[in-house]
Amino acid sequence: MAANEFDLISRYFSALGPRQPGTRLAVGDDCALLQLPADQQLCVTTDTLVADVHFFADTAPEDIAWKSLAVNLSDIAAMGARPRWIQLALTLPEVDENWLAKFSQEFARKLRLHDCQLTGGDITRGPLSVTITAMGQIREGRALTRSGAQVDDLVIVTGSLGEAAAGLKYAHARTMTADRMNLVKRLQRPEPRVALAERLVGLATSAIDISDGLLADLGHILAASNVGAELDIEQLPLSPSLIICEGTDEARTLALSGGDDYELCFTLPSRHWQEVQTLARKLEVPVSRVGFIQEEPNLVCRLNRNLYEPQATGYQHFSKRGSALGN
Ligand code: ADP
Ligand code: MG
Repeated sequence: MAANEFDLISRYFSALGPRQPGTRLAVGDDCALLQLPADQQLCVTTDTLVADVHFFADTAPEDIAWKSLAVNLSDIAAMGARPRWIQLALTLPEVDENWLAKFSQEFARKLRLHDCQLTGGDITRGPLSVTITAMGQIREGRALTRSGAQVDDLVIVTGSLGEAAAGLKYAHARTMTADRMNLVKRLQRPEPRVALAERLVGLATSAIDISDGLLADLGHILAASNVGAELDIEQLPLSPSLIICEGTDEARTLALSGGDDYELCFTLPSRHWQEVQTLARKLEVPVSRVGFIQEEPNLVCRLNRNLYEPQATGYQHFSKRGSALGN
């Protein structure tokens, strides 16, 4: 970017988030230098949010900061890792210091909430987009991958599903009710389930974060684990606001096939269910048992014991990730 790139970096991005043990060098050199204890693995993910594709261009800078970080932390959570370091590549159409100040302040707040440090990045000129690389740590060989689901495991999801997809409909609605606002909030401010996920290591057999709808994302676990599942549609966690705004049928469809929830879906041997419920209660994260893993390699949905045919399948092998505008 222009010569004042260095001013912008030092003003807005030089020391965000709590310094992590193991940070030998952060913002200011050609690279950051990060050290992990010998028995730990680095868990790395990158996600890009592009204006008009993944968020409305008029989204508040605070909401963009929150969501861009949250979707990356959600991937770290899905591995059961502890997030530590963040790299931030910003593409900006213009230098708008008011925008940058708000973005940076909220970014710093979210970093503190999750005890992560910003260790570097880039700033370039172009259509607004935010690319984040999140790095976490996990004991060697302990990560929750997609491939470990076992026959008879329970299928568990956190939080409630479908709200973000409904929120997309109401983001620019002329009449805004409290319930619609709740839905829009879920679209703009997903809550990565990092704390619970870390505690699932050694208990869950596989995990994924739900960004493309439960059917699609559970589908990834099933394919990677070479198993199938049965889902009990009655057990889908649906919020009161979602049911009020959409009705139960549409709420179920959105829970199964809508995007942007950033809840966790994991598989769990039933002997650990009590323990996970206790843990979840302590961390104030709702958990719902929505089905079980079966040998037959397909995904069957049942409602009151009858076969249930989902309205729209989220199971798209080539769907783009985290795409709120459904590109
Ligand atoms: P280089 O030319 O070597 O890529 P830059 O001028 O892009 O260096 O960046 C200088 C320093 O500032 C580097 O340490 C880089 O990681 C950091 N940095 C640049 N942009 C950001 C940003 N948006 N957030 C955090 N750190 C940044
Ligand atoms: Mg650079």
